[in-house]
Amino acid sequence: MVFNWRPLSDWDASLVVGDAKMPLIVQKYGGTSVGSIERIEAVARKVQAARQAGNQVVVVVSAMSGETNRLIALAEGICRTPDPREMDVLLSTGEQVTIALLSIALKKVGCPACSYTGGQVRILTDNAHGKARIKEIDGGSVKEDLESGRVVVVAGFQGVDSKGDITTLGRGGSDTTAVAMAAALNADECQIYTDVDGVYTTDPRIEPRARKLDRITFEEMLEMASLGSKVLQIRSVEFAGKYNVPLRVLSSFTEGEGTLITFEDEDMEDAKIAGIAFSQDEAKLTIRGVPDQPGVAFSILGPISGDNIEVDMIVQNIAKDDTTDFTFTVHRNDFDKALEILKETAEVVGAREVVGDKNIVKLSLVGVGMRSHAGIASQMFEALAREGINIQMISTSEIKISVVVDEKYLELGVRTLHESFGLASEL
Ligand code: ASP
Ligand code: MG
Repeated sequence: MVFNWRPLSDWDASLVVGDAKMPLIVQKYGGTSVGSIERIEAVARKVQAARQAGNQVVVVVSAMSGETNRLIALAEGICRTPDPREMDVLLSTGEQVTIALLSIALKKVGCPACSYTGGQVRILTDNAHGKARIKEIDGGSVKEDLESGRVVVVAGFQGVDSKGDITTLGRGGSDTTAVAMAAALNADECQIYTDVDGVYTTDPRIEPRARKLDRITFEEMLEMASLGSKVLQIRSVEFAGKYNVPLRVLSSFTEGEGTLITFEDEDMEDAKIAGIAFSQDEAKLTIRGVPDQPGVAFSILGPISGDNIEVDMIVQNIAKDDTTDFTFTVHRNDFDKALEILKETAEVVGAREVVGDKNIVKLSLVGVGMRSHAGIASQMFEALAREGINIQMISTSEIKISVVVDEKYLELGVRTLHESFGLASEL
């Protein structure tokens, strides 16, 4: 993903207030955290506490929970494909309600505060309504507000394009607003308050002994996307990594340090594995008996990508009798289309047969420690073998090893790997 973003070094230096003596933190509260008046008042107390502890605080909020969906339903009640520009005008009101209510609540607890829409802090985006990208942040009068002791409350998920039209950043976009504000202000930390207390070694619904991580690297978090995306908009993690914004995920309902997403340090290398990610959205396609000659891979995958289908893992076997087998995975939603294309290709290239399998899952071991520890892959394969789990495909990258297995082994596979790499918490 490419961020169309001015490098920080080019930024208006006057905007950089973070290296003043007072720490500057950006806090983001999601929909459930501001889901009622009581919760908004609870958020106001937390923000006031952070300010009284000696921080400058910028707060980014989402719409109250359910509000964005309610607004979408209203528009779709009129027409199935509402005008995108008007949708953004509509959806941005959700966050506008929350900034005003939170600022009122802050003033009630004696905390000077000022609310701003995305347009008012000049979050400038392109004009891709519904999925706009931030190009730059001017900051408006945020800096003066902070310096005079006010808490600045910014509407998440929205900006304006060069014409001044309201834009929105895509579902879950308030996380990205928070990180972008933190980058623009050179904040010391961006804290994402949500309804979970951090990032876990795996999904606790699959493995109840999953443990909350104190720290994880940006790279690992991105590789854990299949789990992490439920916690954070993944785009915001890429953004934070790129602009070096320490990101902390924590609960707005319980006390705790949450999980810090940051750069690698030496301690983190000791932990070989950060966690076990998995994806149930995969499907596998195999074309057998393809005449082995230069251009085989291209003739098979060219038409697939030509139809905008993304291919994940690829395996080509060593040729035998001048023919080879070729297997790859795609998103399950693309399976039918990919199968159809592959059958056509098989006729063109004179392959023997095409087979597909939707009943697979991908299990991945993720950890920066893999770089400096040998034997992780064999430990993984041994653990799966011990449980009689057959591995259908394997792929590796610097900090991840993924295997494709039958979907009936999802839970057993995750728990086995979790146990084998000592990730479980003591019960
Ligand atoms: N309110 C928007 C949504 O529901 C943005 C956000 O909450 O981050 O997607
Ligand atoms: Mg969210």
